[in-house]
Amino acid sequence: MLNRRKFIQTGVLTSLAPLALMGSCKDGLNVRNNTFLESEKSIPLVDKTDVIVCGGGPAGFAAAVSAARSGAKVRLIELQGYLGGVWTAGLMTNFIDYKNKGGIMQELLNVQKYAGITESRFLDVEITKLWLEKFCKESGVIPLYHTRIVGAGTEEGQLTTIITENSNGRQAWQAKVFIDATGNGDLAALAGCGFDLGHPDGGLTQPMSLNALITGIHLKDMKEYRMVSMPGLSWAEPKENLLAEIRKGGANCSYEKPSLFAIRDDFFSLMSNHEYKVSSTDVQEITYATIRARLELNKQIDALRSLGGIWKNIRLVATADQIGIRESRRIHGKYTITKDDLISGARFDDAVCRTTFGVDVHSLDPSKHKSIEKIGFKSQAYDIPLRSLIAKDVDGLMMAGRCISGDFFAHASYRVTGNAVAMGEAAGQVAAQAAISEKLPQDIQYKSENQDSL
Ligand SMILES: Cc1cc2nc3c(=O)[nH]c(=O)nc-3n(C[C@H](O)[C@H](O)[C@H](O)COP(=O)(O)OP(=O)(O)OC[C@H]3O[C@@H](n4cnc5c(N)ncnc54)[C@H](O)[C@@H]3O)c2cc1C
Repeated sequence: MLNRRKFIQTGVLTSLAPLALMGSCKDGLNVRNNTFLESEKSIPLVDKTDVIVCGGGPAGFAAAVSAARSGAKVRLIELQGYLGGVWTAGLMTNFIDYKNKGGIMQELLNVQKYAGITESRFLDVEITKLWLEKFCKESGVIPLYHTRIVGAGTEEGQLTTIITENSNGRQAWQAKVFIDATGNGDLAALAGCGFDLGHPDGGLTQPMSLNALITGIHLKDMKEYRMVSMPGLSWAEPKENLLAEIRKGGANCSYEKPSLFAIRDDFFSLMSNHEYKVSSTDVQEITYATIRARLELNKQIDALRSLGGIWKNIRLVATADQIGIRESRRIHGKYTITKDDLISGARFDDAVCRTTFGVDVHSLDPSKHKSIEKIGFKSQAYDIPLRSLIAKDVDGLMMAGRCISGDFFAHASYRVTGNAVAMGEAAGQVAAQAAISEKLPQDIQYKSENQDSL
């Protein structure tokens, strides 16, 4: 089948030449274009399956589990050596917009309840890694870690093949339906989908943040400084108190609303850094941002320790493997969620979940302030329609998590993990049904199983 059709790999048209049949040509430097021509190679096709999920963060893990539970054969391909995305690689230990979500989100909250964590909305990074693997094992998902998606091949407008790289080299994989849950929309971009990036005026994206795990302080001493979800308690006050302490010790905060989350009595996570104007598609910029951020976090912890008293034993346990990328590509889908949908509180027949979180835009320009932007309009709870999870430009491809189709302001609201899990769960169900019935995702009649939350 593959070798008779037109096959397009990462934007390069190779008519009637599938990966396995490509001829070879000589490697060489083209001085005029300053490009290096790599010779065409045969890449082993490792597996053909029903559904491949790319990226194992909150959205991808939920998508894989739900597709497998719906009867599909599922592979989950992840860059890191564990699942969880921003929860684990990013040390972001706080669920938002989870209360009205059923299904897998509730199952995750139950895990937290039994793990001895201070509040069920917080998560322990290591326990989360274990539980996500347990969910995958029980549902029959086949995970593949340490692997990056680097290429995509379409036939007659449908994504049929992806290419991965790891220490086994380059490999090709086929599926009936793919789900892009890479956060940054890597797969959809490689497949040739259109996308938007950044603010409509100027294209700036939200700042990145390197998070950290902290020990050597105690819950009983942190009342004034830690984030607590109790009605009547101020959101800003503990952050302002913590900022004052860091400054008293002689350090600064590039995020002037630093957040300290108590996971256990003596174990905390910290978000106190902003890296401004860093492109999420430029790895050199991300590298420098990570280095700057790590230095800043070390200085902040040293500053607090220098104060003595309740801070005298504070230690940085770890900085995140992956600097937290709030915002990257928003892939064009069959529907694009807009600011107007937030203002009107839009409802859709194909809703996958209802977003209740507001529009959370961290400062785009540090010369103005280093906190949270005032957005100038009021949003209401709104639905995320399944169509915004189905790619517009390429068939056989769905998105879940922060790379779905929405505008800058909508993304700033639905991007949090309660919604990412619910989107993943819905995408997994639809992808499985489409693969099993040999249909495209847009041809599946969808009704949310989380009707209670709508
Ligand atoms: C600093 C920060 C603080 C935040 N605070 C909160 C909060 O308090 N509460 C909340 O609910 N949300 C918060 N968010 C938002 C939320 O964490 C993300 O929007 C959410 O994780 C999106 O989930 P996702 O699965 O789409 O993406 P991600 O969590 O980014 O997961 C993507 C996964 O894909 C993998 N991947 C990426 N590219 C490739 C590739 N090419 N090949 C293979 N694998 C790949 C990554 O390793 C990762 O595991 C925060 C985000 C940031 C950055």
